[in-house]
Parts: sequence; structure tokens; C-alpha cells
Amino acid sequence: MEVRVTKSSMPDFTEYMKEIQDLWDTVWLTNMGSKHQLLQKHLSKYLNVEKISLFCNGHMALELALQAFGLTGQVITTPFSFASTTHAIVRNDLTPVFCDINEEDYTIDADKIEQLITPKTTAILPVHVYGNICDHDKIMEIAKKHGLKVIYDAAHAFGIEKNGVNVASYGDASMLSFHATKVFHTIEGGAVVSAYDWLHEKLYQLKNFGIKNEEVVDEIGANAKMNEFQAAMGLCNLRHIDSEIARRKRVAERYREHLEGIAGVKLCRIKDDVKYNYAYFPVIFDSDRLPLDRDIIFEKLKEQHIFTRKYFFPLINEFDCYRPIYHAAKTPVAKKIASSVLCLPIFADLEWNEVDEICRLIKDMIGK
Ligand SMILES: *Cc1c(COP(=O)(O)O)cnc(C)c1O
Repeated sequence: MEVRVTKSSMPDFTEYMKEIQDLWDTVWLTNMGSKHQLLQKHLSKYLNVEKISLFCNGHMALELALQAFGLTGQVITTPFSFASTTHAIVRNDLTPVFCDINEEDYTIDADKIEQLITPKTTAILPVHVYGNICDHDKIMEIAKKHGLKVIYDAAHAFGIEKNGVNVASYGDASMLSFHATKVFHTIEGGAVVSAYDWLHEKLYQLKNFGIKNEEVVDEIGANAKMNEFQAAMGLCNLRHIDSEIARRKRVAERYREHLEGIAGVKLCRIKDDVKYNYAYFPVIFDSDRLPLDRDIIFEKLKEQHIFTRKYFFPLINEFDCYRPIYHAAKTPVAKKIASSVLCLPIFADLEWNEVDEICRLIKDMIGK
């Protein structure tokens, strides 16, 4: 048995072929073509959000969203995320200020944000990590009080709803990632969701070199357009997204049956008012209460060809490119979680007997 940590969902080959066939008639391959427009329409309907802009990937969506808001100075964010979150800040000539996370769901600790605000702070960039929803009400209250923008990294949160509201509608803007490893994907791809019309107009320009019209370029943009083949993949995958998520849910529930309630093994709490997407299955292995630590469990599973992921390790403030400037000691909870978390394999096609075997191996190792 060999199990990868994730496996991209693919539509039937013929379905994709059919979807891209008319591109041979139109010969319109990129630059906001008909597939792009259609996917944009279908996604805004599926997510129940007013407006969405598509991009070549999630990172550029985030980077250009930060640019579009014209931010300066400091942005408060979490070190417990993917490299993209902080890189998007720094590549906009902004300074990241790392706030610790909470021990409950590993999102930014909203109670620690205010003490980090300075006269230079202009925005908060929280992450719905693993699809766990940030303390949005508290974050918005702080942002309002101090006149800050809130831009969410919602890369993990496709389709997630709380009390019937899609979390992509939170804040001034939210970024979604449609990377091949995400729940919904367009091979590579991403989006910005926001209620502001002006923002979408600006993003349209920024993802196309800042070109306003044939003779006017008045923004320093990038090239971040989603092409027609990506959009076609999205149109296919969106048709199957509900069953994709339902199958992931079955896998997650099977894991829970095996691992819930074991001392020293902590799973994310499931909340009643949330509709999840089951993108990840993070487990905290508490080395104080277990005979072996996360790193050994990772290695031993690898020996058995079970590929898990230390996600997120290292913390962003411990990356070689940031370590000389930032100190992970200032975010102790994040440091602790990063050293004890392991994301177990989860994808729609993962078989129950594979989940059973993975859990058996883990339980054997930790003597439970
Ligand atoms: C995947 C991811 C991104 C970047 O998205 P891409 O589409 O891969 O560019 C950003 N932040 C987080 C938390 C992610 O997981």
C-alpha cells in the first residue's frame, strides 16, 4: 500500500475534452475568454457571493488584492500558514507583524491582535487555516475601531459556510486558491471575492499589466490572468464538487471513528453551525503524553509508504528568508503547534481500508 497525502480530483477525460473542444473553434485561449466568464458566473452562484475575480493562481490573487487596497506600513498576520501569505505582504513592500494563533483551532488569536497595532498598521491578513473559521466578529470589531482593512487568506476555505453564509464573503476581500491540491481546483488558479465593485475593476486591470485601454497603462500591474484551459477544468470540477466534498467527509469521519478520544491525540473540533469542506485532516500529537513525537510518527509512516505532511512546519517566521528579522519565540503557540501537527492523507478517492490501515499503524506506534 502506498498513500499520498493528497490526490487531485480529475473529471472524466471525455468531459474535459468536450469542455475544451470549442476552444479550437474560437481560438481564444486566454485574456478573459468565454470559459473564464462562465466559470466566474458559476462560482459566484455556487459560493453565493456577488462578485468574484479569477486569477492564474491564489498567490497572485492575494498579492494583487493587497496592491489594489494601496496599503502601506505594517500588516498583522499569522506565521502558521503557507509561505504565500507572508510573501504576498513582503512582495508589496509591506512589513508583516506576526500575531500568535489560538490553541483551539490554530487561527489568529484575535485577543492578541490589538497589542500589535501601531500607527503604521493598515491591515489584518488572517488565514482560515485547514478551513477553521477565524474569529471574524472580533477581527472586524478591531479593524473598525482602528480603521484597518481585513483581507482573508481563504485558500483552505472553498465552499465553507457558517450559519448559511459563505466565509469567502468575510472581510474587505478574501482570496481563494484553486491549486491542484485544493478541494476545488483549476489545475492552478485562484480568486478574490469582495463586495466592492471598484476593487474588481482595479484587479481586472492589475492582472493584465495595469492596462486600462489600448493606449493607457496607469497601474503597475502583473500578468495574473486565468487561461481558458484552467477555466475549463474549473467548469468540469465544479459540476462534481458536492460529491467530492461528501466523499471527503466520509474519509474524515472514518478517521474520527479511529482517532477520537485517544489521550495525546487531538483532532479539530467540529462545530454544528459550520458546513465544512474536509480539505485537510490535521492531528496534533502531544509528545508530552505519547511515547514518540510527531517527527518519528512522520518517519515511521513514510517507511510504510504513507505520506503525511508537516503542515505547517517550519513556521513562516522561521523560514531562512525571515528568520534573521523575526522571532518564533514571540509566537509560542504557533511554534508548539507547528512542532506537533501532522496532516494525514485525505482525498475523495481514499478508501476506508486505507484509512483503517493508517490509523492501525498510528495506534500501534503510540501504543493505543
Ligand atoms: C495554497 C495556498 C496559497 C496559495 O495558493 P496558490 O493557488 O497555490 O498560489 C496561499 N495560502 C494558503 C494558506 C494556501 O494553502
